Amino acid sequence: MNTQDKLPEILKRLNKAYPKPKTALNFSDPFQLLVATILSAQTTDALVNKVTENLFRKYRTVKDYADAPLETLQKDTGSVNFYKTKAKNIQAGAKIIVAQFNSQVPKTMNELTSLPGVARKTANIILSNAFGIHEGIAVDTHVKRLSYRLGLTKNADPVKIEKDLMAITPKKEWGNISHLLIFHGRKICQAKKPDHQECILSNICPSRNI
Ligand code: SF4
Repeated sequence: MNTQDKLPEILKRLNKAYPKPKTALNFSDPFQLLVATILSAQTTDALVNKVTENLFRKYRTVKDYADAPLETLQKDTGSVNFYKTKAKNIQAGAKIIVAQFNSQVPKTMNELTSLPGVARKTANIILSNAFGIHEGIAVDTHVKRLSYRLGLTKNADPVKIEKDLMAITPKKEWGNISHLLIFHGRKICQAKKPDHQECILSNICPSRNI
C-alpha cells in the first residue's frame, strides 16, 4: 500500500478509535486559546489548564493582558516552562491585538504569525479550533513523530511535514488529523516506547519493528 492509499485507512481507524477529538486545552474564546497555546510549548496541557484556570479568572479581556505590569503577568504564569518569555509574548501580542485588530484575534495565517511567539503551528491551532478555518495542519512533536513513523513524510522540518500532510490529506480532515495523531501519539505511539502490539495501525505501519 503506498502512502496516498494508506492515509484514508489511517484516518478511518484513528477516527474510530478517537471519535470527535478536540484540543485538551481549556478555553472559552479565541484569545484564551491563544494564551493557552503559547503557554503549552514544552509544557503539558494538564499543567497549562491548571495555570489558566486562575489566569482566565483574573484577566477577563485582551486589554487586561495588555495593561498588566509584565512582572505580574509573569508571576501569574510562573509554573510553566519559559514563563518569562511566554508572558512577554502574550502581553506584546495583546497590545498589538488591541491597537491593530480592535481587540479581536485576527483570523488569517499572515496576521496571526505577525504576533510575537506565534508560528504556523500555533496559528493553525487558533484558526482551526477557535474559528473552524483550516489553512494548514498543526504539526507538533506528536504529529511530527507519527507522520515520520507511519511513512507519511520523510522530512524532519515541521513546515515541510505540514506541506507533505496537506498534499495527501483531504481539506476537511486538516483540523482533525492533528488531533488524531496527537491522541494516538500520547496513548500508543509514544516517543520512547511505542506499543506496536496494541496499535491499530501496526499492519500498515512501516515502523512496526522499530
Ligand atoms: S505500529 Fe508502532 S510505530 Fe507504527 S504507529 Fe503503531 S505504535 Fe507507532
